[in-house]
Amino acid sequence: MPPSPAFFDLQVNGYAGVDFNQDDLSADDLHTACAALEAGGVAGILATIITEDLDLMCGRLRRLAELRGHDPLARSLIAGFHIEGPFISPADGYRGAHPKDAVRPAEVSTMQRLLDAANGLTRVVTLAPEFDANLDVTRLLAKQGIAVSAGHCDPTLEQLRAAIDAGLRLFTHLGNGCPMQMHRHDNIVQRVLSLAERLWITFIADGVHVPYFALRNYLSAAGIDRCIVVTDAIAPAGKGPGRYRLGRWDLQIGPDLVARSPDGSHLIGSGMTMPRAAENLVREVGLSAEEAKRLTSTNPRRVVVDLV
Ligand SMILES: [Zn+2]
Repeated sequence: MPPSPAFFDLQVNGYAGVDFNQDDLSADDLHTACAALEAGGVAGILATIITEDLDLMCGRLRRLAELRGHDPLARSLIAGFHIEGPFISPADGYRGAHPKDAVRPAEVSTMQRLLDAANGLTRVVTLAPEFDANLDVTRLLAKQGIAVSAGHCDPTLEQLRAAIDAGLRLFTHLGNGCPMQMHRHDNIVQRVLSLAERLWITFIADGVHVPYFALRNYLSAAGIDRCIVVTDAIAPAGKGPGRYRLGRWDLQIGPDLVARSPDGSHLIGSGMTMPRAAENLVREVGLSAEEAKRLTSTNPRRVVVDLV
């Protein structure tokens, strides 16, 4: 048997036909997704819950936590939860596929409700620092050892620096969750890269969310030791083309496994698997197998386990 790559994925919305953001998730669904992830050499994930009406988000987190508790495979595979939203930028482009009516400014009491629903399993929260007044939520999470990640946001360089001082540790899928057209120099990608020494940066390495030539530039600028690859996988990952759901989206997924909004204006998660991401990094980006392993296994583990 080949040595297990033991992938660790910080952003998984669903897998093998199962959507973690569905209200009627069953024990069988969760087990199916976990078994397929394990079969693909994935040793750990953060199940990701995205922006929705707050009661629905809480219900989904509660259900996931409960189902995980009853399934030994899910317990070993799901290291915790990544809550992406609802405290992100409402601006078109930055908001991406997240529903506008459910996006809201960060608020400590609301965050606490989500944390309670997740029953101690929250490991990463993605939010927009410029909508976290006084960085209160960032501080609350950092104090509890939860990795705060900026994403779907457009903070100034000063706002980013202040957020890092308050405990921000990550940036979620750089190059996505931002508009197609931005200022040619002073944009979110350049600002984040300039602060790479103080941030972990995640990327979706499917060649569609970020073209490989640009990913190569980003990895060179930030350094492999500050970067992490995630799949941002949704239900078709590990399964194949067909009709799937992610939250409110009803998606027709073609042979390229790319999930696009019905009007084609933005991408909605990916159909990629971790083994495919690692293969892309070696074959398309030109990394060594050892560098690919750092991006898909070693570094993401450090964020969740070591919180450095
Ligand atoms: Zn996102």
